[in-house]
Amino acid sequence: KMIVGVDLGGTKIATGLLDASGRMLARSQKATAGLKSSEEVIQAIVDTITEVSGEYEIAGVGLASPGAVDTRRGIIRNGVNLPGWNGISLQAELEKRLQVPAKLINDANAAAWGEYVYGAGRGAQSMVYVTLSTGIGSGLVLDGKLYLGTSSFAGELGHTVVNPNGALCGCGQRGCWETYASGTAIARQASEAAAAAAEGMTQMTALAEAEGVPLSAKHVFQAAAMNDKLAQETLEQVIHYTGLGLMNIIHSFNPDCIVIGGGVSRAGAAFFEPLRGKTGELVMEPYRGTYAIKPAELKDDVGIIGAAALFVE
Ligand code: ADP
Ligand code: ZN
Repeated sequence: KMIVGVDLGGTKIATGLLDASGRMLARSQKATAGLKSSEEVIQAIVDTITEVSGEYEIAGVGLASPGAVDTRRGIIRNGVNLPGWNGISLQAELEKRLQVPAKLINDANAAAWGEYVYGAGRGAQSMVYVTLSTGIGSGLVLDGKLYLGTSSFAGELGHTVVNPNGALCGCGQRGCWETYASGTAIARQASEAAAAAAEGMTQMTALAEAEGVPLSAKHVFQAAAMNDKLAQETLEQVIHYTGLGLMNIIHSFNPDCIVIGGGVSRAGAAFFEPLRGKTGELVMEPYRGTYAIKPAELKDDVGIIGAAALFVE
């Protein structure tokens, strides 16, 4: 039997058909921009599933969504990206229309499970997945099981506080981890450093201006590689705060594996090597050498693959 994964993203519904080994056999997507009601969204989801399924028998459909997802009741609590949800039971609705089991899950939790089953976390006992993107998302696989928590909202590690007097976060709190270690946060800290610098113009801002785009995390890494002092200092601070977040994870969950994905992980060794060093300095002695910090392997289809993997035995 085949399995289907659906990624309900910010701009599109992306759906894939996978075999039991995690290989994607077919893919379909639809933009969400033109969809005006929950009925239209559900119909679009059903259409993509029907399209990829063809004649195959389907064991189940997993759906990954951003935001607060009530996995036990099969409801998206705040469909930030999709219109008119109002607590509609998406799981029940899909099961009725498709006559197959469906499961709904938060997208970071899906990505965590996908990396554990098919990606960088294969074979780990306990794995924590962190995506350093526009914000920070995370998911926990503890002793081989995806840990969802009482309300299935577990793993919002981006909103654990690393500096109580720090920058204001979208959640209303100050100094959440994501205000220091997300891609957005890296760009903000670089801009602040550049604004405070005597010359104003730095290698980082020059790179952004040459591209005609706002300063982003990528420019900070590029400028640091070109020996731009300000970029290097900014990254030092970023690595410190990122390491603090990982230290909290290691002290909380004692995982043998931490998988890091998201846009910032694309910086590669220039990010991972200092981060491994810093984290090793920060954790308490008994934890040293107990964990590996690895880049994610599944890339853009991680949501689809992770949601489908919910039906892997
Ligand atoms: P989303 O949040 O939409 O899922 P991504 O996971 O791609 O998107 O994360 C976007 C963030 O990653 C942006 O802040 C961007 O600047 C940053 N980013 C993208 N590529 C790189 C790179 N090569 N090095 C460092 N940061 C990057
Ligand atoms: Zn927050």
